Amino acid sequence: MYYGNIKKNDIANGKGVRVTLFVSGCTNHCKNCFQPETWNFDYGKPYTKATEDEVIEALKPSHIAGLTLLGGEPFEPENQRELVKLLRRVRKELPEKNIWSFTGFILDQDLLDGGRKHCEVTDEMLSLLDVLVDGPFKEEEKDITLAFRGSRNQRVIDMKKSLEEKEIVLYME
Ligand code: SF4
Repeated sequence: MYYGNIKKNDIANGKGVRVTLFVSGCTNHCKNCFQPETWNFDYGKPYTKATEDEVIEALKPSHIAGLTLLGGEPFEPENQRELVKLLRRVRKELPEKNIWSFTGFILDQDLLDGGRKHCEVTDEMLSLLDVLVDGPFKEEEKDITLAFRGSRNQRVIDMKKSLEEKEIVLYME
């Protein structure tokens, strides 16, 4: 896996001050994507064990609320296989931190069992998240007043409640 950036005091991509990892590679190709350079799976730098350690260290200060995964596309299967290892570590070593992920895929169409981006680690990865912001950016539904989303079709989903209740439960409208 490659990544473009790690923001260590990010206040734009989830609640509170966060560490945000921007992974590379995205097959969604949304019209007017705000960062098309990240579609390339080789964009940026190789993600190594040292990168994983850097993210864990950046999460440790008490003012950091948690980790956010962004892209590119964290839920491309090749990225899921790497990111699930990071999420396991965050849950084990820093259980007080919360985890958000953004995806251009649609949870109930693409990521659950039978979906086109479901792979052997997807269920585990989803179970390790607190919040998933899903859906492609749609220019025709663009709304700059929305929190944490670019367009009205995107949803901020409470993953823990959604998995418990076996239906989509929103974290916020
Ligand atoms: S999912 Fe995100 S990175 Fe991928 S094309 Fe859409 S807006 Fe761009």
